[in-house]
Amino acid sequence: MDRLGSAQRVLVIGHASPDGDAIGSVAGLVLILRRRGKAAMGCIADGVPWFYRPLLEKDLIHTPESLGEFRFDTVVTVDSSDLARLGDAQVLLCGEAPDIVLDHHQTNQGFGRLNYCDPHSPATALIVYEIAKALVAIDEELAQILLLGIATDTGFFKYGNTDHRVLEVATELVKRGASLQRIASAVLENKTPNGLKLLARMLEIVTLAADGKVAYGWVSAAMLAETGCTEQEAEGFVGEVRALHGVEVALLFVESPPGEVHVSLRSKSHVDVSEIALALGGGGHPRAAGCLLKVPGIHDAIGTVVPLAIRAVR
Ligand code: AMP
Ligand code: MN
Ligand code: MN
Repeated sequence: MDRLGSAQRVLVIGHASPDGDAIGSVAGLVLILRRRGKAAMGCIADGVPWFYRPLLEKDLIHTPESLGEFRFDTVVTVDSSDLARLGDAQVLLCGEAPDIVLDHHQTNQGFGRLNYCDPHSPATALIVYEIAKALVAIDEELAQILLLGIATDTGFFKYGNTDHRVLEVATELVKRGASLQRIASAVLENKTPNGLKLLARMLEIVTLAADGKVAYGWVSAAMLAETGCTEQEAEGFVGEVRALHGVEVALLFVESPPGEVHVSLRSKSHVDVSEIALALGGGGHPRAAGCLLKVPGIHDAIGTVVPLAIRAVR
C-alpha cells in the first residue's frame, strides 16, 4: 500500500488470454489509482475480448501496441503467477522485475520486487477490493468491475472457493450498484453460433480414462478453422467436461496457433491439478490450473498430460 502511495505514474499489467479476474483486477486498480490523482493505465497483451467491453470504460485497458507514449515509474502485475503469463506485455518491463505483484495463485513465483500473493483469496479482484476500501469511495463503476473479477473466478459463486466472505463482498458491491445479471449476461450469454458448433464437435470426442475418473476433450487448430472460431470461443468448454458424472480430473486441449497447445486442468474434489500444471511450466489453483505446451501436434500434448492425470487419480 505504501509503495502504491508513493507511485505517480503506474502501469498495471494483467495476464494474456485474460479472464474476468484479470480484466476486473487491472481495470479496478487503474480506476482506484486515477481516483487518487495518479496517472494510471492498464495493459493486457491480447486486449479485452469483445464480450467484456460493454462492462468497462474504453480508456482503462490497452494492448502493448496501443499504449502509445504512456510513461510510468511503477509497474504492478495482477492475477499472474509468473512473468511468462504476461505474454507480449513482458517487453514493457525491459528485463526488470515488476515493482509490485498482486496475485492469488498458490503457484506464484514471487517474480516482483514486492510480492503480495494470497492463495486463500478466491480472486485477485478481492485483493483489489481491499485496496479500494482503504483508498477510495467505491462507486457503481468500480463496484461493477470488481464484481466481474469475483463472479467469474468463483464460477458465479458455485466453485469451492465461494465462502461467506466472498458473498458478503459481492453483496456490498451489489449494494453499491453493481449488477450480477449484466455480468452473467455478458460472459455467459454471448456465445456465437460457430462457437456452439465447435462445442458440439468437442463434446463428440470427449474421451474417458481411469474408469471414468479422467475425462478429456480437445479443440485442434483444424477444428477452429473448420468452424470459423478463435480459441476464445472454447472458453468454458472444460467446465462441460468436468460436469460429467464420476469425473475427478477434466482436461481440455486447445491448439492455437499450430505448435502451441493451451491445457486447461480442472478437478472436482481432491486432486491438486496445479501440481501437474506447475510441473509442465504453468500454474494455477488446486481445482483449476493451466499450462502452455509447445509441441509438434495436439496429440503430443494429450499424450503428455493424460498419463499424469491418470496417475493423480489413482
Ligand atoms: P484456464 O484453464 O486457462 O481457465 O486457467 C485456469 C487457471 O490456471 C487460472 O487460474 C489461470 O490463471 C491458470 N493458468 C492458466 N494457464 C496458465 C499458464 N500458462 N501459466 C500459469 N498459470 C496458468
Ligand atoms: Mn486469471
Ligand atoms: Mn484469478
